[in-house]
Amino acid sequence: MESKSNILMGRYELGRLLGQGTFGKVYYARSAITNQGVAIKMMDKDKVIKTGLADRIKCEISIMKLARHPNIIQLFEVMATKSKIYFVMEYAKGGELFNKLTKGKLKEAVAHRYFKQLINAVDYCHSRGVYHRDIKPENILLDENGNLKVSDFGLSALAEAKQQDGLLHTPCGTPAYVAPEVIKRKGYDGAKTDIWSCGIVLFVLLAGYLPFYDSNLIHMYRKISKAELKCPNWFPPEVCRLLSDILDPNPETRISIAKVKESYWFKNGPKAKNKTPVEENNTVSSSGTIISDQSDGVEANEEPVVPVSINAFDIISLSAGFDLSRFFDDKFQKREARFSSKLPASVIISKLEDIAKQLSLKIKKKAAGLLRLEDLNEGRKGVLSIDAEIFEVTPFFHMVEVKKSNGDTLEFQKILKEDIRPALQDIVWVWQSDQQLQSQQSEQQLQIHDQQQQQQQPQS
Ligand code: ATP
Ligand code: MG
Repeated sequence: MESKSNILMGRYELGRLLGQGTFGKVYYARSAITNQGVAIKMMDKDKVIKTGLADRIKCEISIMKLARHPNIIQLFEVMATKSKIYFVMEYAKGGELFNKLTKGKLKEAVAHRYFKQLINAVDYCHSRGVYHRDIKPENILLDENGNLKVSDFGLSALAEAKQQDGLLHTPCGTPAYVAPEVIKRKGYDGAKTDIWSCGIVLFVLLAGYLPFYDSNLIHMYRKISKAELKCPNWFPPEVCRLLSDILDPNPETRISIAKVKESYWFKNGPKAKNKTPVEENNTVSSSGTIISDQSDGVEANEEPVVPVSINAFDIISLSAGFDLSRFFDDKFQKREARFSSKLPASVIISKLEDIAKQLSLKIKKKAAGLLRLEDLNEGRKGVLSIDAEIFEVTPFFHMVEVKKSNGDTLEFQKILKEDIRPALQDIVWVWQSDQQLQSQQSEQQLQIHDQQQQQQQPQS
């Protein structure tokens, strides 16, 4: 077998593992012929065929093999064995862009340079009819000169497959993360989805944290549902304007790439007062010599920020209103439950009313989107009372919180488990607790995977 000798197909000498994604692993390798360093992404053929999208992938890949752009990871060749597909691609020595954020937010000029490169890469592929649909920190890499390189263009079919049925079926890795419009209708516009992601990336580069984040989960839902974009005070006004055009929850009115490229900030970058005279990362001393900025364009943070490890993992998802599970505090779990639904609020409300009737609970409307269900009889700790609050993310996507507002916690859990959850079955997309469980299982699976992998790993 090729792995024993560490020479793949007689042509590439395999090195260390660079990373792992949903569909396979990525290794560093060296061409036995030219000695050039490359990255090789290995995927199980089965997994790709199972998505039913093999033909589309083939088509996009043939386009990507012809694509040449300084900010796109070049695809050198695609090889296959009986069970595996190998993508031989350009190696990005600088690793992931978001590693730069571990020290804090970036200077405006540096963020501008990365954003320009990102938009140029995305625009180039769109002009060839290829959409990414999975722009996220793991796919934004840097080369040895600090130039941005987008990877995984040409694999959007896989990204889509993962997104569309991912939440419940991905065998390992993270739960599915989808943009608002992806839920609304199936035939969403890949171009608009990519622009949204670029906007989130720009925000995080400049802020050092995610837009729409709030340590209070409820406030966060509200911010997301209203797409309430709050730019920090150090953002220049032209950047805020651009970001609010990009982070428009409605894909129809969201700005196009062409218009982004015409915008003042995209074209000109920071206003003169902020601009450093030479390269963005360097400054000129009074004697005129160039001093390299050791901080690599990173600015100290003035405000406490969300840890970057969260950003790097959830950047796209969170802004689209999903996977809030990791922010969920354990102690509330007994008294609260949450689910998401792809149905309109009116349907959710009438379902809750039906359930109240069936269970002989009194129903009170407390406010728009807030219902209170009350037991007619006294329980062990007074009357059991349950609040159901509905938060709109998009008109066709809601988060519903079911919370004990009075009474005994055990009684609440019992009625939730035995009556409410089964009765809600038709309208629930996913219960948050199930999603958490799935993430935990996936993480455990990955750990086992990693251990096996370490035993088998080829040496560098
Ligand atoms: P997904 O499952 O959505 O594809 P992913 O993008 O993280 O997630 P991969 O594309 O398999 O998964 O990549 C895994 C990791 O390998 C990346 O996070 C990145 O750090 C590293 N990597 C991928 N391609 C390259 C490359 N060309 N050069 C250097 N590192 C790379
Ligand atoms: Mg990738």
